[in-house]
Amino acid sequence: MGLGDVARRARAGLVAGWTASLAVLAVAGAAQAAAPVKMALTFDDLPAHAPLPPGVTRIEVAGRLLAAFHDAKTGPVYGFINGVQEEREPDSIGVLSLWRAAGHPLGNHTWTHINLNTNSLADWEADLVRNEPLLEQHMAGQDWRWVRYPFLSEGETPEKHAAARKALKARGYRIASVTMSFGDYAWNEPYARCMAKGDMAAVTVLEASYLKAAKDSLDFERALSAKLYGRDIPYVLLMHAGAFDARMMPRLLKLYQDNGVSFVGLREAERDRFYAADFKTEATAVPTTLEEAAKVKGVALPAQAPPWGGAELDKMCR
Ligand SMILES: [Zn+2]
Repeated sequence: MGLGDVARRARAGLVAGWTASLAVLAVAGAAQAAAPVKMALTFDDLPAHAPLPPGVTRIEVAGRLLAAFHDAKTGPVYGFINGVQEEREPDSIGVLSLWRAAGHPLGNHTWTHINLNTNSLADWEADLVRNEPLLEQHMAGQDWRWVRYPFLSEGETPEKHAAARKALKARGYRIASVTMSFGDYAWNEPYARCMAKGDMAAVTVLEASYLKAAKDSLDFERALSAKLYGRDIPYVLLMHAGAFDARMMPRLLKLYQDNGVSFVGLREAERDRFYAADFKTEATAVPTTLEEAAKVKGVALPAQAPPWGGAELDKMCR
C-alpha cells in the first residue's frame, strides 16, 4: 500500500471516524505522559539505495547514519541488505562492515530486491537464500534471520502469501513488519538532482517536507493505534539508507524523541502481541499493518493531513 492509498482511505473514513477517534484520543492522551512511544528503527537497501549527489560516497552515507544513531543513543538498528549491490557498486563494499563495527545488526532483503508479487515463490526463495552467505559472513553467531519483503510485496494471492510465510518459517526467519512509514525513499532522488544543480532553496523545501511527512505519519499511526487498541503498539519504522536520509537523520531522530518516542530493538518491538499474527498462515485477513487491522475490524481510519510527496518531488530540480 502506498501513501496515496492511505490518504484516500483516510478521506473516506474522515467523517465517520472523527467523533469516535476524538473520544479515544482523549483517553490515550492522558496515558501518553506515563508511557513512552516505543519505535524500532529499520533501514532497507544496504549497502546502496538511490542515486547519490555529486561527490558523496556510500561509505559517507553509512557513516552519517551511524553517527546519528550514536548521538541519539538509538541502540541496535537493523539494516536489511541486497548483496548484489556490492557487485553493481564496488565502492559500496565496506558499508556492511562499518554497520557491524558500530554494533548494528543486518537482516535479509533478498539478493536482488526481487518482487514476490511478480516472481514465483521458488525464484524469490532462491534469491533470498543467495543473500545468506554474506549475512553469515558479517553476522556469524548473531540473529540475522529477519526478512524484510522487497517492495513490501508479500504475495499477490492468499495462497502465495501463506506459502511464503510457511517457507520463511521453515528457514527460521521472522518477518520485519512495517507499522510506520512516510515514504522517506522518495526524497533521495530529487535531493541528488537538486544538489547537482546547486539549488539549495529546493533542498530547504525537501528538508521541511520530509520532516512534515514524518510527523504527519507519526500522528496518523498513533491515532489509528489508539482507535484500534486504546494504546500505542510499539511501531516498526521503515527507512532507507539513502543520502538524503543520512542528511536528515539527526533532525528526524530528534523529531521523534521530541514527540515522546523512545527507540527499541526490532525484536523487542515485535514481542508485542500485535505482531503475533506474523506466522498465521490460514487466511487473507491477517493484519500486519494498522491499516490492515482497521480494514479487518471495519474501523474507519483517522483524519490525515494531505500527503506531500510523489508528484511534487518528481518535478523538483528537473
Ligand atoms: Zn527495499
